[in-house]
Amino acid sequence: MSMERKIPIEERLNSNAWDVDERPHIRIKDPDQCRKCDSKPCLYLCPARCYTPGGNGAVLFSHEGCVECGTCRVVCPNDAIEWNYPRSGYGVQFRFG
Ligand code: SF4
Ligand code: SF4
Repeated sequence: MSMERKIPIEERLNSNAWDVDERPHIRIKDPDQCRKCDSKPCLYLCPARCYTPGGNGAVLFSHEGCVECGTCRVVCPNDAIEWNYPRSGYGVQFRFG
């Protein structure tokens, strides 16, 4: 039996460091699509919880804490997200092996 301890995702994320660019590298380019989006997978599948519910079906986004996994870009059914990597030198630095 393996003695390796299972590390919760929150603990893994907390071990990372960010140099946050003031210019967001991801943005919701079409908020109207979010209001019409019934399933809103970004709310549930972003591991860093960058997407949060707003009022009236809207979704709020904060790029701080993004781990650049690309999940939101893949799961958005409405092509509502403009996705880029942060500018060189900015973004997440993974510290957990
Ligand atoms: S999945 Fe896309 S369209 Fe749906 S709420 Fe999230 S960003 Fe908006
Ligand atoms: S790239 Fe990953 S961590 Fe960043 S906002 Fe999208 S799902 Fe969240």
